[in-house]
Parts: sequence; structure tokens; C-alpha cells
Amino acid sequence: AEPSAEAAVPQAGDPGLLLLGRIGAVDPTDLDSYRAAGGYTALRRAIALGPSGVIREVTDSGLVGRGGAAFPTGRKWAGTAQRPEAPRYLVCNADESEPGTFKDRVLMEGDPFSVIEAMTVAGFAIGAARGYLYIRGEYPLALSRLENAITRARARGLLGEDILGSGFSFDIEIRRGAGAYICGEETAIFNSIEGLRGEPRSKPPFPVERGLFDRPTAANNVETLVNVLPIVQMGGPAYARIGTGSSTGPKLFCVSGTVARPGVYEVPFGATLRDLLGLANAGAESPPEPRAVLLGGAAGGFLRGDELDVPLTFEGAREAGTTLGSGVVLVLDDTVDLPAVLVRIAAFFRDESCGQCVPCRVGTVRQEEALARLSGGTGDGADIALLRDVGAAMRDASICGLGQTAWNAVESAIDRLGVFADVPQRRTLPLTTAAPSTTKE
Ligand code: NAD
Ligand code: SF4
Repeated sequence: AEPSAEAAVPQAGDPGLLLLGRIGAVDPTDLDSYRAAGGYTALRRAIALGPSGVIREVTDSGLVGRGGAAFPTGRKWAGTAQRPEAPRYLVCNADESEPGTFKDRVLMEGDPFSVIEAMTVAGFAIGAARGYLYIRGEYPLALSRLENAITRARARGLLGEDILGSGFSFDIEIRRGAGAYICGEETAIFNSIEGLRGEPRSKPPFPVERGLFDRPTAANNVETLVNVLPIVQMGGPAYARIGTGSSTGPKLFCVSGTVARPGVYEVPFGATLRDLLGLANAGAESPPEPRAVLLGGAAGGFLRGDELDVPLTFEGAREAGTTLGSGVVLVLDDTVDLPAVLVRIAAFFRDESCGQCVPCRVGTVRQEEALARLSGGTGDGADIALLRDVGAAMRDASICGLGQTAWNAVESAIDRLGVFADVPQRRTLPLTTAAPSTTKE
């Protein structure tokens, strides 16, 4: 089970934290409480900077998307803002569904006004009059807190017509997902909002050109948007000094599995995996020994327990052969049945494939079957070869990220952790003992 939002915030309310600083310290249902803690100063500053000034700060900050793909946010906003077609849209991707990911939930439940304020700043920057917040259906508390925040912001003139007397009008509509993981893919979100089947579209064209209702659209993850508030407040260059040269700012990590205190942790980029696990095991008398860490989620990859000095940066993860993805850090110790975990991951991808393209629709089924044979003791080297063939086809020929990454974690478990290293090259079928009778009755 996922940790609860409350248990997930061990650093709640530490004012030194840029993203989690208000969580647990402000009343998430009360706009005055949010304002007393600095809320809505970023929107005022954004209005003073003007749309291009905001985009410049975001570009200078080096902010990249926190949903998993790390695309530069300033480039995305500039690309949307410069399109001549109207209207333009903002979509906040709150369909957080990557297994082991629960950071956006913590932000939405604990600091919902920040999400609404950040969407308003983004809408202002790209010249959108309407924003859609597409939220995972299984997040009822986050939904009610956001609905409440929108109602209260509207009542105070912070959403709607002529916000803060600036002449800028913007409003937000919430749409709720219905349990399909694929509806977190940005173009599948557009289809879902438009009332179509939740299937990804081929890219290009990218949403900045043709997104929701075929109009220029900036789609941003919740955590990405919340980062915009400190960027506008402190300025892009100051923000860029946090973290490392290529990975700027703070990052939320979702630590789960065999650690003493699972939860969401905010650290600057550049901290090592060991530092992060030190926080998650703080106070434990005998912290669990990790055998493996799944970094970046099911689409990421496994690291061995002796590789904890990997720096938590995009470049560090890349060099280690994985990705930071959406910030998943799933720790597994010696008691965990790794082959069973791989079968579970494969079942997840098979279940969640939308079925639109053959490599993913068929490949995820074949992958799960081969892993089930291997983990059940009836597989052999031919199954590993099959996994590699199917994995390459899925990676090369799938339409969207689901199929393209469905083999990542499995591949890293085989190559890096040596799972299935002892399966026979070719299994000999057991000889039949009951020979057919040749005597006639
Ligand atoms: P992507 O690389 O295709 O795109 C990333 C973003 O950049 C998109 O918004 C895309 O529109 C934009 N983009 C890319 N190239 C562009 C260009 N040339 N011009 C303008 N915009 C451009 O990745 P994706 O398929 O959107 O996302 C995959 C990631 O999602 C994976 O890395 C995975 O970690 C993550 N993910 C996250 C969750 C979650 O719950 N947070 C769930 C599943 C997957
Ligand atoms: Fe659907 Fe999978 Fe193809 Fe993505 S890769 S469009 S989830 S079938």
C-alpha cells in the first residue's frame, strides 16, 4: 500500500524547503492561511514581470519537467506562447499513476492553493484563458482540496475575470480520470478531456503546436508547476544556483520499500542516493540493507545495493544507465522475491497497454509470459533471448512511452542484478515414463 500523505511528509513545514515548506504548516483548506505563508506573492510578481518576463525567468532557471521526461519548461512555454492560433490551453497533468509515485498527491493534498496559483502564473505566461487540471481518479482528498481551492480563489478575484485588476482572465476546470494509467500520457489526456477514447496520439506534432482541441497547449506536471512559484519569487538565475549545473533546483523523491520512513523527500539535485536513503532511514537502529533500488519507476532501472553513490541528477542517472523518471526510489532488500517483482511489473504494463499499437499490445503479453516461465522455474535461455527481442521491438516501434519503456526495468534486472543468471541455457524436457502400450487387448 502507498504511504498516506501525512506519513509521507517527514519534513513537513520546514520553511527552508521550496516545495514542501508549507505542507503541514498551513491549513490546506484556507486561502488566508496560504496567503499568510507567502501565497499569491508569486502571481503578483508574475503580473509585474509580464508574460515574456515570466518565461525568461523560467528559462533562466533551467527548470525541466518533473513528470519524468525532463523537457525544458521555458522552451515549452515559449513554444506555446509564440503560436498564433487561439485559444491556447494549459493542462496540468495530475494523473500521477507511475507505480511508486506519490509526490504530486502530497502537493495537491497538503498545498492545493500553490497548484492553483502556479497554474494561474503558467496561464498568464503562455496567454491561456483556460486551464484544465486532469487528476487521477483515485485521489479523492486531493480532488476535494483542489475544488475548494478553486472556489475560494474565484471568490477572491484570484481566478476568473480581470485577476488582481491586471486585465488577465483565467479559469480552471478539473477533469477526473477513471483509472487508466495511459490517460496520464499528455495526448491521451487531451483525448480524454475531449470525450474521446484515452489513447495517445502520435507526436509530432507536439502539443505546443496542436494539443487540446487541436490548439497550442502547454502540458505540465504538478511538481513542475509548483517550482514556478519560487522561480518567479527569487528569479531564474538564483534558482539555477540550487542543484547542479545541468540539473537545477530541488527535486521530490518518493521513497518506498524497505526503508525505515517511507515518504516524499525534497533534496537539491546532486544529493546522492545514499544521502536520500540516509534521510529515509534516519533514527533507525539497524537500517535495512538494500539489495537493489528501482530508480525512476517501472520505466527506469534497477541499481545494485553497492551503487548508492550515484548522484541524483539527470546526468548522473543517465550515466548509471537509468533515469530519475518521476522520482521513484523503491528499495528492495534480500527478503524480496525479485523475479516475482518483475512478473508484477510486466503484468502492470500488459494490463495498462491501451492496445493501440502491435509492439506494445502483443509485446507486453509475451514479456509477461516469458517472465512467468522464468520465475516459475520452467524457463530457459530462449526466454531471455525472447525478452530481448520483444523488448527491442517495443522500444523501437511503440507509439508512446508506455511501450517504449515497458522492458527497461526488466532489462536492468537481468543485466545489472543478474536475475535469472542461473537458468539453464536450454531446458531438457522431462522424458515421458509411461511408454504407450504395444500389446493389443
Ligand atoms: P516525451 O519525451 O515525449 O515528452 C516530454 C515533454 O516534452 C512532452 O510534454 C512533449 O510534448 C514535450 N516535447 C518533447 N519534444 C518536444 C519538441 N521538440 N517541441 C516541443 N515539445 C516537445 O515524454 P512523454 O512520453 O511525454 O513522458 C514520458 C515520461 O513520463 C517517462 O520518462 C516517465 O518517467 C514519465 N511517466 C510519469 C508518470 C507519472 O505518474 N508521473 C507516469 C508514467 C510515465
Ligand atoms: Fe497504447 Fe502501448 Fe501503443 Fe502506447 S505504446 S499507444 S500504451 S499500445
